[in-house]
Amino acid sequence: MLSLFKKLTSVSVMTAALLFSVSVYAKDRMYETDVVVVGVGGAGVAAAVSAAQSGAKVIALEKQEMPGGSSNFAEGLFAVGTPEQKRLYVDVTAEEAFKHAMDFNHRFRINEKLLRFSLKESTKTIEWLKEQGVEFDVFRVSPEEPQVWHLVRSKGNLEHGAALIHTMVTRANELGVKIMYGTPGHKLIYDGKKVKGIEAVDPKGNKVIIKAKAVIIATGGFPNSEEKIAEWTKFDPAKVKAALPLGKTGDGISMAMEVGADAGGFGLMLTPGILGPGMAPFGPIFALSWEPGLWVNKYGERFTDETVIHNFSLAGNVVEGQRDSFVWSIIDEDAVTRAEKEGVVTGAGVLTPVGTKLSNIRAELQTALDAGNQEIAIADTVEELAVKINVEPKRLKKTIDDFNYYKEHNFDEEFARDPNSMPYVKKGKFYAFRMKTYHFVSYGGIKVNNDMQATDKQDKPIEGLYVTGMDVGGLHGDTYTLWTSGAAYSFAATSGRIAGAKAAEYSKMK
Ligand SMILES: Cc1cc2nc3c(=O)[nH]c(=O)nc-3n(C[C@H](O)[C@H](O)[C@H](O)COP(=O)(O)OP(=O)(O)OC[C@H]3O[C@@H](n4cnc5c(N)ncnc54)[C@H](O)[C@@H]3O)c2cc1C
Repeated sequence: MLSLFKKLTSVSVMTAALLFSVSVYAKDRMYETDVVVVGVGGAGVAAAVSAAQSGAKVIALEKQEMPGGSSNFAEGLFAVGTPEQKRLYVDVTAEEAFKHAMDFNHRFRINEKLLRFSLKESTKTIEWLKEQGVEFDVFRVSPEEPQVWHLVRSKGNLEHGAALIHTMVTRANELGVKIMYGTPGHKLIYDGKKVKGIEAVDPKGNKVIIKAKAVIIATGGFPNSEEKIAEWTKFDPAKVKAALPLGKTGDGISMAMEVGADAGGFGLMLTPGILGPGMAPFGPIFALSWEPGLWVNKYGERFTDETVIHNFSLAGNVVEGQRDSFVWSIIDEDAVTRAEKEGVVTGAGVLTPVGTKLSNIRAELQTALDAGNQEIAIADTVEELAVKINVEPKRLKKTIDDFNYYKEHNFDEEFARDPNSMPYVKKGKFYAFRMKTYHFVSYGGIKVNNDMQATDKQDKPIEGLYVTGMDVGGLHGDTYTLWTSGAAYSFAATSGRIAGAKAAEYSKMK
């Protein structure tokens, strides 16, 4: 009886296994192409268009149901020597930008050749994007940088980066690129010498095998993987949060590492920020919190020259370095009135540009408080404010008194801040905004040569494998310099353009 049961069970298990394997086999899909692009964000769509323009048959895989990744939310691209700049008599050169970036990065732990190449190529990239239908206006992100930011002109209700993605995806479709949405690539096909394609999974969970002569990785880094942030960077993901949930988990970098690609330069593009119920992201309250008043840490102590906020990535690092990685930005009633009537000094990108008058700010603050926003505290007195932000009142009072003293005596004894930039913090009401540490994108990844070919630990190119955008390592040191602001999106487009052409060329030699 038992043996019969065993036999029946084993037959049914075998039948089930057979049926299962048949059904899996039946649902597997196989494609052959010249070039497969993994990720359809800024770098991926540039790679797909460029490869198709160079005569390759292209398939592009996108993990999400829509293209664009973080490029949809970005606004401007770095470039020098463009007609848009010449019209405004802006004459920053690629050489000046390179020297600045090298100094900023302490002249080491940077792939100098790649940085130099990508800054020089920025002029051609803007020209090429314009040929595809993208339009630009030259702009400045913060008061302390040159006019190198090429703000993408919005199209209808598609703003900036999203307009670029839409234009380029339309172009890719016109060129016959097959884009497969909801189909993340997860494993490279590698014969020990050459990369020959990729395995992916479609939205129904079926395996998609794409045999290709070349693979271009463009998956946009690892900002949404807490595990990889903990493993690859020095930051604590419990304290440093992604600005946007985009599902970018370092897939491309991991896949390339699995076939022997070398990697490095890992980090995060940090920014201080205030988010919470009842307020718009990067809107008026966000901009008000970025006005350089007085900053205190969780103990109520001042710790920096607050004008560091004019460079968001440096400021992000300063805030991250404080205990528990948050600070309170404090201003008084007069500062709110100035922002209301004269406009903001720092601004928050193009959503609330420098000089914007926050004419409705009081109602907006009330809406946020009514929505239970715990990141904002407003009080009639310093003592009351201290209680609300959980700081010892005497300590906060002394910090504010010292700050006002430095302003009055025209000398910031503690951090040598320009006294002209210091507002008094004297007149109630007093306002405090809790700025936490967020990150826009990750840095670092696979090492590449100037053809965007992945290189291994002997610095030899891995045949058939190209890497682009935020999956590339070696362009950033400690953090991001706003002097070459827009360099991230610019590199995404440049590296995609180059990788597409080179991969197409390579595929023809096979
Ligand atoms: C709010 C915000 C504002 C920014 N503003 C600027 C700016 O003004 N200027 C600037 O230079 N930079 C800016 N950045 C950074 C900029 O967005 C990026 O550096 C750059 O655009 C990234 O391009 P990318 O192609 O590498 O990644 P993305 O554009 O993010 O594209 C990656 C794509 O790969 C897909 N993907 C991920 N995994 C897989 C997988 N396994 N298979 C298939 N597809 C996959 C993703 O879904 C995504 O669509 C900003 C970022 C944010 C978040």
